Amino acid sequence: MRCIVADVGGTTLRTACWDTAARALTGVRRVPVRGTGGRDAEHVAEAQKTVVDQLAQEIARVRDSPEGLGATSVGVAFAGPVTADGTVTGAPTVWGGGGAPLPLAGLLTERTGLPVTVVNDTTAAAWRYVTPGGPSFCLFTISSGISNKIYAGDRVLVDDAGHGGELGHLLCDPAPDAPRCDCGGRGHLGALASGRGMLAAARRAARARPEAFAASGLAALCAAGAAPQADDITNRALARAAREGDPFAVAVLRSGLAHLATAVGSVFLGTGVRRHVFVGGFALAVGERFLDVLAEELCRAGCFGLSASEVREMLVLGAPDDDHCLIGMGRLLGSAHGDGNSQSILTK
Ligand SMILES: [Zn+2]
Repeated sequence: MRCIVADVGGTTLRTACWDTAARALTGVRRVPVRGTGGRDAEHVAEAQKTVVDQLAQEIARVRDSPEGLGATSVGVAFAGPVTADGTVTGAPTVWGGGGAPLPLAGLLTERTGLPVTVVNDTTAAAWRYVTPGGPSFCLFTISSGISNKIYAGDRVLVDDAGHGGELGHLLCDPAPDAPRCDCGGRGHLGALASGRGMLAAARRAARARPEAFAASGLAALCAAGAAPQADDITNRALARAAREGDPFAVAVLRSGLAHLATAVGSVFLGTGVRRHVFVGGFALAVGERFLDVLAEELCRAGCFGLSASEVREMLVLGAPDDDHCLIGMGRLLGSAHGDGNSQSILTK
């Protein structure tokens, strides 16, 4: 069976074809999303229509390509909460805040004539890491923000209204001047432990301790020749310095991962899930040290009933590419096709 898969993010729309027998992607294509880049749209309904039109065009393009011939279904991973019937209830990174719920699966089914499944992007990404009959796990994406999804009992745990997997909005710092989250709140996990949150923390630390920063390996990576300033720090330099063990960068990393440990520890303590998979540019750029420091912070906070080595063994990095949502979406469609219980799986 061939499926057309798409991944709608805040900046990029990816499309490809998925062969369920070969379990392989072909013809991956990336184009800029015709959204607002996260700014609030003046007319949200028009911004939504532009994105739906673009998706329909890109799906048609795949269908007309040699890879897409004979495709029997479409799966769309979308950056926002999605209900069980494929309605997008919010898309702050695509068209900003507000707007009526968008019945995307229904609209695209009408436009393409094919059955269309729409799920949240992190739900799709989680399906990449599913082993049929295998252990439950929690996927975390650590990039400009943080999101998560738990897979257990052959499904991703999301309710029919699309709730679930929003640990990025867990309150970790109650201070009134804590860093602001994408959602408008302050002190949420996503504002503290995402790539963006850790970059801001590094710049604050460099301003607070200029001599320590100037002597750090991070500073040496930030400017050729001239004395680097806090604003010269980039995510790339921070991730590399942390990966290489620079004490200044690792201390910044640890300050963010202490909060992530609260979230990971809560998932373990509340559910017994002992496999936690981390994807996203920042986590993968830091590499195994990201997991080492996270494990140390989990042990410091306490993972009741687990030894230090058992804590570290819970944590793994995902694949170092951008194809999580496309591959996961293909696997989700293939799984539904294979076991004949499509409705319950497709809608979760
Ligand atoms: Zn938030």
